Amino acid sequence: EREQLEVTRRDFVANISHELRTPLTVIQGFLETFEDNPAEDTKLLTRGVKLMSDQSQRMNRLITDLLALSRLETSDAPPQEVVHMSRLIESVRVEAQALSTEKHNIDVHASADLKILGCEEEIRSALSNLVSNAVRYSPKGGTISIEWALIDQDPVFSCQDQGVGIAPEHISRLTERFYRVDKSRSQETGGTGLGLAIVKHILNRHNAKLEISSEPNKGSQFSIRFPKTIGSSK
Ligand code: ADP
Repeated sequence: EREQLEVTRRDFVANISHELRTPLTVIQGFLETFEDNPAEDTKLLTRGVKLMSDQSQRMNRLITDLLALSRLETSDAPPQEVVHMSRLIESVRVEAQALSTEKHNIDVHASADLKILGCEEEIRSALSNLVSNAVRYSPKGGTISIEWALIDQDPVFSCQDQGVGIAPEHISRLTERFYRVDKSRSQETGGTGLGLAIVKHILNRHNAKLEISSEPNKGSQFSIRFPKTIGSSK
């Protein structure tokens, strides 16, 4: 078991180093170019500054997600509060609409009275990860349907998209840190490869389960089934 842990730790450190090295290489490359010919070519300068800025934002997102993951792994479960899910879902919708730049239709059906007990900040982060993935992995014009309702008496949040979908062999591995089906699409859309790992940790802290069903080129549905026990307080 200890050996397995050590292997996991080593893989993780190697992954992080690789993820940080790529944007750093871009930044370093441009800096060296500018050092050799200081700002003679203004077009190159403009392009370089834009690319360096994109890459530093990427490093920033990566570090933010790593810190979030580490906090989730090391801190005790936070105190529970009543979470007004339909209100929370509305603010997640507004945020997703901004990310989509109006390129997708985002439909919401949320049971207004269905509340749960949990940590609002963590639940917001889990919902927002799933909805932003639906936007990022869907082509322009796709519809994203968000539902919040009791299903077989369990409170269930689901987010369905008409996007690229996922082949069955990948599904069980999606919540692993840095596991991506299509690395370039993930990076082009600002992904860190850590979103679903964060979701999984948050759900564990709420005794909730992630259910994924998907078909390539048709779309995906990610659902969170919360336990009855944390109170489907109406
Ligand atoms: P990333 O930052 O790469 O999106 P995530 O942990 O959020 O990382 O997701 C892991 C991988 O799962 C993604 O790289 C993508 O391949 C796949 N994925 C997640 N959500 C969806 C979705 N709605 N449709 C298609 N693929 C998805």
